[in-house]
Amino acid sequence: MSSKADILRLDLADPWVSGNKPLKLAGWLAAFRRSGRSCLLSFGGAHSNHLHALSALAAREKIPVILVVRGYEKAPLTPTLQDCLALGASLQFVDRVTYAKRYDSVWQQDLAVAFNALVIPEGGDGQPGLVGCRSLADIASGYDDVWLAVGSGTTAMGLAQGLAARHSRTRLVGVNAVADQGERQRDWQHGMPEGMEWSLIDTSVLGGFAKAPATLLELIHAYDQHNVPLDPVYTARLVWAFEHFAIPNRRSLLIHTGGLQGRRGYGLTWPVDSCTSLLTASVV
Ligand SMILES: *Cc1c(COP(=O)(O)O)cnc(C)c1O
Repeated sequence: MSSKADILRLDLADPWVSGNKPLKLAGWLAAFRRSGRSCLLSFGGAHSNHLHALSALAAREKIPVILVVRGYEKAPLTPTLQDCLALGASLQFVDRVTYAKRYDSVWQQDLAVAFNALVIPEGGDGQPGLVGCRSLADIASGYDDVWLAVGSGTTAMGLAQGLAARHSRTRLVGVNAVADQGERQRDWQHGMPEGMEWSLIDTSVLGGFAKAPATLLELIHAYDQHNVPLDPVYTARLVWAFEHFAIPNRRSLLIHTGGLQGRRGYGLTWPVDSCTSLLTASVV
């Protein structure tokens, strides 16, 4: 690495409810407690970090959970979905056309009524998800720059709001994991707090969302040697972007947002497999 950085290892805090997901889910759990509903329901793909974390959290809290899974035949189940099932989640497979309706408030309302469920948007996004991410500013505000991978941008927006509330001058650098033709950039131009210094790095030269070109896989293998496991979807892109675009002589913090369970979808190991006992403990 040409520039040095500290890494906030959110991946280490809890291998099951991992990375940024507990920050996003905390608000949703509180909303569930207030709602009087009998279960949680959310959406995701067959390798989703969100569905994995949600299943583990629901198992611990003894809350039934329904997962609406995108465009995927039941068999063979991915390692992610196998875990979700072992954690007690019910899986509902829908085709891609149906899945495309996940932001449709009418469909969400139908699902909420049919299952008496609190519906959590894909990724745990929305206001309750955002609020929990503001606390990241406690750590980030001590740095010149804070870098993190961006999917929906909920985590980054929460962090930005937290920084703004602390009148911090920390610059936020988002590394966009999604090739979205500038959509997030336009969102942030309107949505970022006043006076916030930020930039968004495009990683579409590495291929679209969840693509894992040789460059990223090589980087992952190199960081594995240093006990900093990365995932191809988010955190390897973050490190790749930092290696290419960091400005020297600035104190930088990289936020490791977890996602390591998703490595199994690429034939890589999940370095916390040895924590399986936690899973057992949470289900019993
Ligand atoms: C979900 C996820 C993200 C994206 O978070 P957003 O709030 O949607 O931007 C980033 N990194 C990892 C590892 C994730 O699992």
